Amino acid sequence: MAEPIATDPRRAVPPTDAVLADPRLAEPLQRLGRPLVRSAVREAQQLVRTGALDPSEVVDTVLSRLPGQATSLTPVINATGVVLHTNLGRAPLSRAAQEALVAAAGYVDVEFDLATGARAPRGRGTLRALREALPDAGDVFVVNNGAAALLLAVTVLAQGKRVIWSRGEIVEIGDGFRLPDLVASTGALVREVGTTNRTVVDDYRSALGDDAGCILKVHPSNFRMSGFSASVPVRALSGLGVPLVVDVGSGLLRPDPLLPGELDITTALRDGADVVTASGDKLLGGPQAGIIAGRAELVTRLRRHPMARALRVDKLTLAALEATLIGPRTPTATTIAADVETLRERCAAIAVALGSIAEVTPSDGAAGGGSAPEVPLPGWAISLPERLAAPLRAHRPPVVGRVERGVCLLDLRCVPPEQDATIIEAVRACM
Ligand SMILES: *Cc1c(COP(=O)(O)O)cnc(C)c1O
Repeated sequence: MAEPIATDPRRAVPPTDAVLADPRLAEPLQRLGRPLVRSAVREAQQLVRTGALDPSEVVDTVLSRLPGQATSLTPVINATGVVLHTNLGRAPLSRAAQEALVAAAGYVDVEFDLATGARAPRGRGTLRALREALPDAGDVFVVNNGAAALLLAVTVLAQGKRVIWSRGEIVEIGDGFRLPDLVASTGALVREVGTTNRTVVDDYRSALGDDAGCILKVHPSNFRMSGFSASVPVRALSGLGVPLVVDVGSGLLRPDPLLPGELDITTALRDGADVVTASGDKLLGGPQAGIIAGRAELVTRLRRHPMARALRVDKLTLAALEATLIGPRTPTATTIAADVETLRERCAAIAVALGSIAEVTPSDGAAGGGSAPEVPLPGWAISLPERLAAPLRAHRPPVVGRVERGVCLLDLRCVPPEQDATIIEAVRACM
């Protein structure tokens, strides 16, 4: 006997409007907007059509598949052990910075004086916090990112002139981004001095002439030179009669004993840099931003250049950066300093919960993001079969580990302890 037609699931696909009218979808419709909810409805309807879903479960399925926010950016658990992972958004913001960012999302007094009702300097609170964090700077300024800070400095100081630059520091930052291309785009000409492995101060001296706009010193943030090599320290390049621009990259405010060899902004200023440029979302631990610090009259020239307007940061960045500077210790600083024994204990507890599939193994993390390239951060990881790496990334929330030597390592350095339970749950779901 033929099956009655009414039980054919394809016949029972609930119409889109009927699903969207379900009271349980009213709140998501208001919060996420119609297009996102409708596309989740379409996916569920498709499952019904293929017979994989009972028509009565459409609304529940839609609810379970809706994203948490109306963005395709998916928050992930960073179990790579790399603190500043460029592909995972570099520095995670502190709670204080996240809350500041949300508070600034509506109308705010970013350029308004509430006492007088008149216009006020943009980002004044953030710049004050940055000045206080860098007492050696005559003045400070903030732009979109580290590259923008360097672009502005070179444009103002060396457009139509020469940038005196050691061959050992003409570098690629990553993903094909080469600093010489950025500098050339300003209309400055590069005068290369020294050799790839050795540059001495006389190389710079002999290149100085009327057409010299600035000396540029770039901290080798993502590699180290060893063997028969020499570079000229900041100290020896200051006072040569040409402004000295130092790109420190990492945005470290002061020396950090945990990261030996990583140049910081304060040291560069004390050693005589006229302008220092750095990123906000590397070791500073804040939002993407470009930090500029240096001699007051030079910073004023940078701030007044027309290009500064094109490179300026928005209110969200200003808010998050200020909170990073005056707020509690950043997650970046906390994870770099994570206690090794605590990491091991957390791994052991997770491995016990997971059973024989998981092992505890030593794991070297890294600062990453073009910082402290040769400083390993010793820690511990949970070692799993490599085949779990892809399903863990597909889990919600995704767990991103490190695939190495045929295993999938989950390094807990950058995983907040309160997410250990989520890791256990994710691995179980993938087993
Ligand atoms: C990271 C880095 C940059 C680029 O900074 P962004 O903030 O990524 O634009 C420039 N110079 C150095 C030395 C760096 O390490």
